[in-house]
Amino acid sequence: MTSKGIPLGSSIAIIGAGIVGVASACALMRQGYKVSIFDPSHPGEAGSSMANAGHIGASDIYPLSTPGIHWKAIKMLMDSNAPLKISFKEFWLELPWFWRFWRTSHASNFESATKALSYLCHNSIDDTRELFEYCNMGDMLDHKGCMFIYDTEESFNSSLKSWIDKKNRGFSSEVIDLDQLNIRAPYISNKFKYAVLSHNWGQVSDPLEVVKSIANVAEKGGVIFHQNRVNSISKKNNSIDLATDKGTDSFDAVIIAAGIGSVDFAKSCGDFLPMASERGYNLTIPSANIKNELPLVFADRGVVTTSLSSGFRIGGWAEYSNSKNKANQDHFKSIARISRELFPEINIDNAKYWMGSRPSTPDSVPVISCSQKMDRIFYNCGHGHYGLTHAATSAKILCKLLDDSADYTEHEGLSINRFL
Ligand SMILES: Cc1cc2nc3c(=O)[nH]c(=O)nc-3n(C[C@H](O)[C@H](O)[C@H](O)COP(=O)(O)OP(=O)(O)OC[C@H]3O[C@@H](n4cnc5c(N)ncnc54)[C@H](O)[C@@H]3O)c2cc1C
Repeated sequence: MTSKGIPLGSSIAIIGAGIVGVASACALMRQGYKVSIFDPSHPGEAGSSMANAGHIGASDIYPLSTPGIHWKAIKMLMDSNAPLKISFKEFWLELPWFWRFWRTSHASNFESATKALSYLCHNSIDDTRELFEYCNMGDMLDHKGCMFIYDTEESFNSSLKSWIDKKNRGFSSEVIDLDQLNIRAPYISNKFKYAVLSHNWGQVSDPLEVVKSIANVAEKGGVIFHQNRVNSISKKNNSIDLATDKGTDSFDAVIIAAGIGSVDFAKSCGDFLPMASERGYNLTIPSANIKNELPLVFADRGVVTTSLSSGFRIGGWAEYSNSKNKANQDHFKSIARISRELFPEINIDNAKYWMGSRPSTPDSVPVISCSQKMDRIFYNCGHGHYGLTHAATSAKILCKLLDDSADYTEHEGLSINRFL
């Protein structure tokens, strides 16, 4: 089943005011819909949009599950410094998800996911810039590329094939020599000697400020913000009812953009949405004595850094664990120790520690789709590692789905029916 052609002027509710929800609200408002957005928290303050790394990672076109991932994962799980963490219990509870994750690494599935992510990545920087300019916040986006730094010559050499493949798909890069590395990333430990500059990459000045600024513009444009949790969704003739603690409201269509919370809504609509909570950890240090001109990715560590208006942010990792479980304090200690190893002069006094749950699908591709089971329900969720990167493009695709101008062949890889 598909929801076709929601007429302009219809009332649309969005569940979730993270980056994906507010970018969707702004785009639908501009398109001519009457938009309301529901979230128990202020925009950006509850989910993973709050303190992510702020990268616009528009050349990361591969799903996490690359060919041979199972061997790499086993190796990483045996190393306490490695960026992957899963307890046996969580692995067992999420077994069907991991099975689908592993299947993504198979040749044709890997290629389908890469194609879908490439489509989003090709548009990401332009769409983000366009959204930021519309919101009068063009100065919050910087597009100078990103330095990928390798621990060893061996890992650098084995990455080169992927950089060539990316170049062939339209994502350029250049190998950086040691002199340039020392100039462009002067604070990193001198043990790092191998780097690649990816050109299709940017960063924002601060992820939370970005969400708040877009939400502000949306509100001024007529979007109504309800600081309410949505408890349930139900279909009523030609409308959808949303029940909150403050009563029930009816809408012509509903967008589910509730991050990891989208899974329960999908279940209640009869859709199958495999999504795991992939938690990341970081430190934001107001006066770290480090200021990098470019965002950095330590490719062998699963650690990234960004100089933001709120300070120097360093972190990453992937811990598959329920979003409601408490943060593991040992992971913060490990990231602090690794930070000192990567940046010998870093001062981590007054660091703020944060953990967030990435809403991750097994193929790393978001779900931008109408429901298979319930008319007038749409999804914009599952952005995993790159919700900030793909929020503007996803919102544009969502608008096309609603007004029925979407190219279904092009967007097939984003549909929820790929999990059937
Ligand atoms: C450590 C870390 C670093 C990251 N770095 C980057 C990066 O550099 N670049 C990048 O592009 N991405 C990055 N990400 C990923 C990015 O943060 C996410 O993909 C993105 O924030 C997802 O946005 P969202 O709006 O879908 O979800 P969220 O930001 O989680 O928002 C979901 C919202 O839905 C609301 N909600 C949930 N249930 C309900 C309900 N029942 N009723 C009403 N509202 C509800 C929640 O309160 C929340 O506000 C990172 C993530 C982590 C954890």
